[in-house]
Amino acid sequence: MANMNNIVVVFDFDKTIIDIDSDNWVVDELGFTDLFNKLLPSMPWNSLMDRMMKELHDHGKTIDEIKQVLRRVPIHPRVISAIKSAHALGCELRIVSDANTLFIETIVEHLGISDFFSEINTNPGLVDEQGRLRIFPYHDFTKSSHGCSRCPPNMCKGLIIERIQASLTKEGKKMKMIYLGDGAGDYCPSLRLRSEDYMMPRKDFPVWDLISKNPILVKATVRDWTDGEAMERILMGTINEIILSSEEEEDKEKMLSSDNCKISVGIVHEPLLPLALQVPTKSC
Ligand SMILES: [Mg+2]
Ligand SMILES: [Zn+2]
Repeated sequence: MANMNNIVVVFDFDKTIIDIDSDNWVVDELGFTDLFNKLLPSMPWNSLMDRMMKELHDHGKTIDEIKQVLRRVPIHPRVISAIKSAHALGCELRIVSDANTLFIETIVEHLGISDFFSEINTNPGLVDEQGRLRIFPYHDFTKSSHGCSRCPPNMCKGLIIERIQASLTKEGKKMKMIYLGDGAGDYCPSLRLRSEDYMMPRKDFPVWDLISKNPILVKATVRDWTDGEAMERILMGTINEIILSSEEEEDKEKMLSSDNCKISVGIVHEPLLPLALQVPTKSC
């Protein structure tokens, strides 16, 4: 997707795009909360979700039933309009989430917003031959550790942000990033943002608490939000602010380069070539 304004907006998914946690939502709606809570102390969240999908399958719950439950997730309507407006303004939108591909794709397709995202970084969710959803770790920790002690073994969102930053630098783009999230897993990315970026933590949620404890550690400008309405207002305000400031910068550059042309006019000698052979020279 063409990026028109050099802004990348990175969204967490659970409790950021949708208003609840999709993993909890599926487990609760299908009546498996007690078992989930019983097993939670004994295994990492990501492995537990794979196990819960086995339980659902063993109890005859189908992928279709899971998808039906996912299509009912609560979402603040302003979040959808915020996503559409950010895209219309030329921002590139990405998702970084500790849920899984099947949950996220089902929801964004149902909401009609899947085409607005250029990338979804999350744990692979694949349906096996028996019709059971398998949820695998984004980072295969059985082979090696991702090396970040802040994050769960299956995913370091900070490393994903670093990879995005590196790929954009390689393409020679001067990008500004806006990151939105609520959870403790969104703290690692907030530490990787640069001073020209923006961090949008959800107020009174774990990532906001962590940032508030030692605000100086985050180099990016921090702008908190409470609900979908505030998210839309603050996100749009920030995007417009960046666009305006980069336009001003462009204007300044144009003025400087047109000054250069005036100075050089007296010493430019056009070669006397037939019209058909003339190559375009620098246009000011
Ligand atoms: Mg979240
Ligand atoms: Zn990390």
